[in-house]
Amino acid sequence: MQDMEVDFFELVKRVDTDKMGDFISYDPEKCNGCGMCALVCSFNLWAVKQGKAKLAVRYQELCLECAACWEVCEPGAIDFSYPAGGTGVVIEYG
Ligand code: SF4
Ligand code: SF4
Repeated sequence: MQDMEVDFFELVKRVDTDKMGDFISYDPEKCNGCGMCALVCSFNLWAVKQGKAKLAVRYQELCLECAACWEVCEPGAIDFSYPAGGTGVVIEYG
């Protein structure tokens, strides 16, 4: 079987990332470092270092808006709101 390389930037396109505000916010005071956000994020946008989660600086470019990180964060350290219409993710098929 041949190895396949997937270019995530080719799969996910955004209308204009410069016009987007933050749609994920994070409160390090509430974070217990459990790592669940990093575990569920399919694009590896979360990492846990020294007991605290960190979100990729330009997460808007790749985030799928699945809200899984928000869903699994039991202490409520992550807040998520869907981006305004027209600024969100577009998945291209084919
Ligand atoms: S899921 Fe929440 S509490 Fe756990 S590491 Fe991520 S931000 Fe912190
Ligand atoms: S919303 Fe989904 S893709 Fe975006 S950072 Fe959270 S888990 Fe990752």
